[in-house]
Amino acid sequence: MDFKTGETYHGFKLLEKENIVEVQSKGLLFEHEKTRARLVKLENSDDNKLFSIAFRTPPQDSRGLPHILEHSVLCGSRKFPARELFVELLKGSLNTFLNAMTFPDKTMYPIASRNTKDFFNLMSVYLDSVFHPNLLNQPEIMKQEGWHYELHNPDDEITYKGVVYNEMRGAYSAPETILRREIYSSLFPDTVYGVDSGGDPDVIPELTQEQFRAYHRDYYHPSNSYIYLYGDGDTLEELRFINDEYLKDFSYRNINSEIKEQTAFEKPVEKVVDYPVSVDETEDGKTYLCLNWVTVKSTDPELSLAFEILGHLLLKTPAAPLKKALLGSGLGRDVFGLLNTEVLQIPFSVVLKNSSEGNRDEFEKVVLSTLHDLVNNGIDKKLIEASINSKEFLLREADFKRYPKGLFFAMKSLSTWLHNRNPFAPLEYEPSLKVLRRGLTENYFEKLIDKYLLNNSHRSLLTVRPRRGLEEDRTVALRQKLADYKATLSPEEIDKLVLQTQALAKRQSTPDTPESLAKIPRLSRSDINNQAEELPLAEKQEAGIPVLAHHMFTNSVAYLNLYFDCGVVTAPDLPYLALLARVVSRIDTRNHDYSDLANELEIHTGGIDFDIFVYRSIHTDAMLPRFQVQSKALIRKLPELIKLLGEVLGHSDFSNTSRLKDIVHEMKSQLEMKINYNSHSIARERLFSYMTVADQYNERIAGLALYRSVSDMADNFDVRAEEIAGKLANLASVVFNRQNLLVSITAGENDYSVFRKEFSALLEHLPDAVPVPVHYSFSPPVINEGLFTPGKVQYVAKGFNFRQLGYEYTGVMQVVSTISKLTYLWNRLRVRGGAYGVFAQFSRNGELFLGSYRDPNLAETLEVFDGLPEFLRSTDFGEEQITKYILGSISSIDQPLTPSMKGIRATIRWITGNTQEDIQKARDQLIETTLEDIRGIADIIDDSLKKNYFCVVGSETKIKQSKGIFNSVIQVFK
Ligand SMILES: [Zn+2]
Repeated sequence: MDFKTGETYHGFKLLEKENIVEVQSKGLLFEHEKTRARLVKLENSDDNKLFSIAFRTPPQDSRGLPHILEHSVLCGSRKFPARELFVELLKGSLNTFLNAMTFPDKTMYPIASRNTKDFFNLMSVYLDSVFHPNLLNQPEIMKQEGWHYELHNPDDEITYKGVVYNEMRGAYSAPETILRREIYSSLFPDTVYGVDSGGDPDVIPELTQEQFRAYHRDYYHPSNSYIYLYGDGDTLEELRFINDEYLKDFSYRNINSEIKEQTAFEKPVEKVVDYPVSVDETEDGKTYLCLNWVTVKSTDPELSLAFEILGHLLLKTPAAPLKKALLGSGLGRDVFGLLNTEVLQIPFSVVLKNSSEGNRDEFEKVVLSTLHDLVNNGIDKKLIEASINSKEFLLREADFKRYPKGLFFAMKSLSTWLHNRNPFAPLEYEPSLKVLRRGLTENYFEKLIDKYLLNNSHRSLLTVRPRRGLEEDRTVALRQKLADYKATLSPEEIDKLVLQTQALAKRQSTPDTPESLAKIPRLSRSDINNQAEELPLAEKQEAGIPVLAHHMFTNSVAYLNLYFDCGVVTAPDLPYLALLARVVSRIDTRNHDYSDLANELEIHTGGIDFDIFVYRSIHTDAMLPRFQVQSKALIRKLPELIKLLGEVLGHSDFSNTSRLKDIVHEMKSQLEMKINYNSHSIARERLFSYMTVADQYNERIAGLALYRSVSDMADNFDVRAEEIAGKLANLASVVFNRQNLLVSITAGENDYSVFRKEFSALLEHLPDAVPVPVHYSFSPPVINEGLFTPGKVQYVAKGFNFRQLGYEYTGVMQVVSTISKLTYLWNRLRVRGGAYGVFAQFSRNGELFLGSYRDPNLAETLEVFDGLPEFLRSTDFGEEQITKYILGSISSIDQPLTPSMKGIRATIRWITGNTQEDIQKARDQLIETTLEDIRGIADIIDDSLKKNYFCVVGSETKIKQSKGIFNSVIQVFK
């Protein structure tokens, strides 16, 4: 269809059309004539279609209105009254993406699907939900998703409950969240960016039902909306649907939601805040120092891109001068930058971690004097080239992994569109890149530093310091506050509160009626593709090395991955192996010092990443640990990539111990962030390490055991430096060995010859020795641990390896996982318990894992896990329900894969012996699931849970209260 500018189509007038070569799309910008709703369509050949509707939602305070509304909108609507509408869609659609997101200035509701019928179904549910949600007449929705007083018996203590309340309590547990929050509040005291749209748990309970409804009325209107469509769908039909089904019923309303700018400061400000650490933890060396500026505007795509590159070259790469200066100053142990190009005025921060309050002035001096030097002496041109190339590679590759491309483009467009500027400008990066390349010959980036950092008083200096017992004090204060509140209530009011608590619980435990569920549009089993997708893989041999070739269109990029068998590393050396994965390519080599090497890598490649995974054979259960090297480059740059791989794998020089020291400290810091932000994976890894040798291996290269080892290396580095350097050199020669190697190349079929020609050059740099496999045995672990951190919420993990009980994996388990997660655990732990997230997973290797995320409870959650088999046995799932769960399970298996992901997945299947027949068999089992099958799995779960293996990461108070159930209680941070 050829749309004409100025013409109207189903109520939408075309304002602009443009070919946007960078995203291989035709861009159409419409305005809905009746409501002035804005609509963009990116027309292209991508079948992963996206629809998104966003509203400008300026928060007035930190009560979390935009965030609680985002949750509540998807809890039932006029046409679709099911109370857990969002989760019903997750259970039973073929979506490739389904979510809702709160930003500091907007709220976005995106869906994606490759199936046209499904796409329209999801679009309909989302549009009905945002414009006609049941939250307007059902106050229980805000209570459940936001906050409410909970009181089960008149004599109990009153507590606060609510999904967002707990989600944000979990978020506010991590020092980095507090840091980010304070950066914004210090820089934007007078605008929406100074408050938290997500909600500060201390003030969330001030939110009232009236404010809540008013906020929806004020902002969720077509006149305040931004609709985005992307993909190969029929644009005319999409416009017709949106107008006829929804927008035609509205008229224009003048809505004042403009995002105001913060006036620049006349002089910089300073601020000091505290964050909690455990009662017995040391406070030494745990302060964050942070210098922040308000820089350019996101509505200027060129400057916005320039600052992304500037942030990278100052702080991200190993060659980054500001990072080097700060680490060299000895004032702290880890340095990173923060930059957010999604808010109107882009904040830029330099953060020094593991410092102390007394270093504050010196920190500021080092930052400013380093920036002065860069302006006066010029930035290394090679570093500039490297940083521009690295960004350019990412822009052209546009590999967003499991996220739909359309989602990223929509978010990019909104950075200008939301502020009344052209939505296509941020997608058209070629003109900006061209300007930025002037930085290679002129002082482009130096001028940016001079203007936006050195001569800019809109700046804040922040100190975020640890305080022991802060969390305990706050807990006491909160209990007192709630006790005081209770004291103001009359006996009648207390009885009323108990009744309200019961009424809410009753509502939450009453399933939706079949009639309300039936209103949700559904696909049928015939919409499912019965065939499992085949991934391209050709087995070859080059110079005696096995090579897996995955031929497909990759837009001139070659993905070259190396897999070294690391079952040759002795158990005590495993932490050093994990360190090796962080060190290689970031330390000196025979021909380059580490800064120069970093520049070479960015100039010639799209990056090289190192990691370790412990796979297991699908059929024999043999443990298959692999040191993985994932690299990419343009095809024409393959020779340089291979040369650099040879350099880092064969000729790394570990003797620069001061560099090594920085990396060890940085690794410690990153593991701490993993513990704070991925506590559920820490709990999970620890749990399975109770059971198998493979998981014990994993615990030593990724889990809490690794954190312990790395902490010791960091704390005693000076005495251990030689030993560590020696270990690394030895491991590199043992692991990076030709006879341990498997190669995987993903590229176009015609490009294989380029690879073949260059490949043997790599082998010259690798030793050729007969590997000596290690037989691993570890001392028996202490099971059932309680691991406490300064956090406020729990991450409860329970499970077992059912293969050890003689059971085998079947495709039916995917269906049971969907039921367990989205019905049983969701209702019990999230809706009723207030936990933010739940897990129910079965792996091919026999792992059954049940988990909770940001959970206010502990013992109660373990009880809920134990009740799962009985729930599965006693529920009569009808044919329609089972079909729904099958659809939901298939959609999580059939997520579209990018070329790099296809290559990796095909390789892993080959390594683990997971054949196409195995995959097809599991798919058949899944699609043919019956009630009988589901009940059969209940027995496996029952037997597994009866082994009673669990692990909990949680708050000190909660873990210590339940210490009777643990064999060991451990303080995570010392
Ligand atoms: Zn949320």
